[in-house]
Amino acid sequence: MENVDLHCHSRASDGLLAPAEIVLRAQGLGVTMLALTDHDDTSGLEEAMQAAQEARIRFVPGVEISVTWNGTTVHIVGLGIDPEDRSLAQGLKWVRGGRTRRAASIADGLTAAGIPGSLEGAMTYVQNPDLISRTHFARFLVKSGYARDVGSVFRSYLVSGKPGYIPHQWAGLGDALKWIRSAGGIAVLAHPARYKFTREELRRFLAEFSDHGGRGIEVMTPNHTPQECATYAELAREFGMLASRGSDFHGPGESRVELGALPQLPEAVNPVWKAL
Ligand code: AMP
Ligand code: MN
Ligand code: MN
Ligand code: MN
Repeated sequence: MENVDLHCHSRASDGLLAPAEIVLRAQGLGVTMLALTDHDDTSGLEEAMQAAQEARIRFVPGVEISVTWNGTTVHIVGLGIDPEDRSLAQGLKWVRGGRTRRAASIADGLTAAGIPGSLEGAMTYVQNPDLISRTHFARFLVKSGYARDVGSVFRSYLVSGKPGYIPHQWAGLGDALKWIRSAGGIAVLAHPARYKFTREELRRFLAEFSDHGGRGIEVMTPNHTPQECATYAELAREFGMLASRGSDFHGPGESRVELGALPQLPEAVNPVWKAL
């Protein structure tokens, strides 16, 4: 039985494990094909690829690109990318630069709310100095006793309207898709239920995504109800798209869904891994 997991994170972005540790953990859990998809960064892929060769598990080089579409942050997973591609590498470098500037503003917001030292605090959790995310701030805030766990810290401090939330302009949808295509990858819409799109917005998004060469939708992702799985499977069919399955695993203790642990895709869809 195939067990494919095409979305997870290592310490190269906001995951807790090293790329090789992710690969070995996946293999131990019976995953047969794994994509590492760190946020806006490909520096973990080399280590993961080597570990996968030794562990005899099929490895798919990936990335999860942060995009702003009509004022909403949307995540696009690129699968089967060549990390050496210049267009992709330059694009991701630009996105990461924005993260560094945003982090300083997040810290200013938190200072104004009476929480000093959060940039330094977050940095103690950052392994890749080029890639700082809200998750690193969340870990610092939990450790400092401002909230019980990473989930509640987001609700109280790091989402829109809270002191540690800074509106940010990520990559354009067309740009991110151009980079993924240039790198020979397949672009997949990550965790579609997360964006709170209306039906109309979602359809408009998918039409544009498709026009730019987007080819897949995550149908199996954490927090999708069975009803949502059915809805996105149906949308994938309607828009002629491939379906993906990804745990979005960030680390033991922090992620509720383990590597390879989601239900299988419904029968009626075309799995994206057949195209990889
Ligand atoms: P960023 O890309 O820096 O804005 O951070 C986004 C990351 O924060 C996501 O990839 C998740 O890992 C994490 N995240 C976002 N919302 C939540 C939440 N409500 N609870 C836990 N983690 C979250
Ligand atoms: Mn993340
Ligand atoms: Mn995401
Ligand atoms: Mn993710």
